[in-house]
Amino acid sequence: MSDLPNCPACASEFSYDDGLQYVCPECGYEWSRVAGEEGEDDLSSVRDANGNILIDGDSVTVIKDLKVKGSSLIVKVGTKVKNIRLVDGDHDIDCKIDGIGPMKLKSEFVKKA
Ligand SMILES: [Zn+2]
Repeated sequence: MSDLPNCPACASEFSYDDGLQYVCPECGYEWSRVAGEEGEDDLSSVRDANGNILIDGDSVTVIKDLKVKGSSLIVKVGTKVKNIRLVDGDHDIDCKIDGIGPMKLKSEFVKKA
């Protein structure tokens, strides 16, 4: 269990995880498990190509020509997409693009506008 953080109060290495939070047995300090580095690496966040967190309703710009599945259409680099909606899955952005219609994008191929 070497991935447990040291106690922020006394720097003890003997902190443990009691299921809800971290506890230091030496000074008795208790702190939240979502604090610090773990919060930075929140895997549930959808991020754009630059690492910015995306949320429902954001506008993004496509950074790569993207083929539209099942058609000969291409979403060109620089296409602006308004009012995105985040969804679960490989393609994690649901949106509607002018001239193309509803489609799904990968967050790694867009950047926040
Ligand atoms: Zn401590």
